[in-house]
Amino acid sequence: MSKKTLAYWKDKADALQFEGRAWIDGQYHGAQDGRTFACVSPIDGRVLCAVADCGAAEVEAAVAAARRSFDTQVWAGQNPRARKAALLRWAALIRMHEEELALLETLDAGKPIRDTTSVDVPGTAYSIEWYAEAIDKIGGEVVPADHHLLGLVTREPIGVVAAVVPWNFPLLMAAWKFAPALAAGNSVVLKPSEKSPLSALRVAQLALDAGIPPGVFNVLPGGGEVGRLLALHGDVDCLAFTGSTAVGKQIMQYAGQSNLKRVWLELGGKSPNIVLADCADLDRAAKAAAGAIFYNMGEMCTAGSRLLVQREIKTALLDRVIAAARRYTPGNPLDPATAMGAIVDRVQFERVLGYIEAGRAEARLLLGGSAVQPENGGFYIEPTIFDVPQAGSKIAREEIFGPVLSVLTFDTADEAVRLANDSEYGLAAAVWTADLTQAHEMARSLRAGTVWVNCYDEGGDMNFPFGGYRQSGNGRDKSLHALEKYTELKSTLVRLR
Ligand code: NAD
Repeated sequence: MSKKTLAYWKDKADALQFEGRAWIDGQYHGAQDGRTFACVSPIDGRVLCAVADCGAAEVEAAVAAARRSFDTQVWAGQNPRARKAALLRWAALIRMHEEELALLETLDAGKPIRDTTSVDVPGTAYSIEWYAEAIDKIGGEVVPADHHLLGLVTREPIGVVAAVVPWNFPLLMAAWKFAPALAAGNSVVLKPSEKSPLSALRVAQLALDAGIPPGVFNVLPGGGEVGRLLALHGDVDCLAFTGSTAVGKQIMQYAGQSNLKRVWLELGGKSPNIVLADCADLDRAAKAAAGAIFYNMGEMCTAGSRLLVQREIKTALLDRVIAAARRYTPGNPLDPATAMGAIVDRVQFERVLGYIEAGRAEARLLLGGSAVQPENGGFYIEPTIFDVPQAGSKIAREEIFGPVLSVLTFDTADEAVRLANDSEYGLAAAVWTADLTQAHEMARSLRAGTVWVNCYDEGGDMNFPFGGYRQSGNGRDKSLHALEKYTELKSTLVRLR
């Protein structure tokens, strides 16, 4: 990695082939009505390729292919060891194509190449490996029952699983869903975000090459309409969604209007990062606070977008956070030295700038606040920090999904917990303190699916369930618990005499 330069990646990018057609039943197809949309790189505004703008015909074809493959048991009926072997081959192919896939993520979503090569692509392969390795080791139960009965509890795949995902980690967020769903024996229809469809379309071909049968894994590029049609479809048994809370609410309604499909939601956040005056290492806390909001351009569901700091250390901490934030100077994401790339597209770019304007009116700007232009035609925003006097301010309450940090001040630990929990969201939270009892008490009180103590965003492996309280969603991605989302529990009672 260290020897690879901007010129190296630019050459590779110039030689890259793009595939923009839908992947249905083991083949690429254009949209039936020929409609396409332009896939634009946020690095410089260049059109990368035309992408099939799928509609009802493609949704019908993909769901039918998934249903057929499920009903004929070409995948679900295989010995779990055979599914494991195919999934491991797929992961190995993804690792073999790591540079190509990392480039697709970087060009399509503006993410730094150092992150797509170290996190997105290896993380995707690892997710597949993790569930592949697990699936032939999980059995059912023989439960206590009357003497004349044999009682079995087994898990069965649910059927056709649709996954609708966002653009901030295009492959990784998808893998957190399709890896457990496929390992459990389901057939999958994946709808990547219209802002970042290319990597999913590429790995689909690799799935077939690995021996996953046609129809078991399908990919439909397109807009929200494709997601809506999948969520309304009577032959989709489960819809696993990652995205905004607003769309999550709609998806629940579509399920209610159609077949009450299982709906699993991983939604937004406005996560509090609390630093108490007794924090043992302010330098480390400051670096983590900057990483929590500026990594991936702040396009993180778990972004530590609210920094809650105890009054007596406020100046000392903020000086350090500002110094740490300067490391995230926006630059060309193809440059391995770049830690902050481009905002995913013009819509999100303008949305973030709109929040910064709102912030100027209600808070004191400490750093950044402007669009910058390291590459002509691209969408870049400086790391931005506001000191926010009112917790009820727009920038301190709403998810921005960009590099904008709101700093709030508190005097007591109780006040910090109150401020932290005063949110419609509950995805993640962090506490920095040297007092172990204080740490445990606060971790208990924080209404969030993940709580970090004296760290932020650690634990990137698959062992921790990931998801939210409140309007950050339901269910959990990652860990063995995720398999519960993609399986039905069956009780079988056998009368012995
Ligand atoms: P989004 O809700 O706009 O879109 C997500 C997906 O839903 C896209 O594929 C989109 O095409 C589709 N969609 C849009 N309208 C739809 C509709 N009416 N019916 C069905 N599908 C529809 O979100 P986004 O802008 O892509 O992503 C950002 C959001 O995702 C943020 O709120 C972020 O917090 C959240 N997110 C959450 C997690 C998590 O694990 N909790 C992880 C990453 C991102």
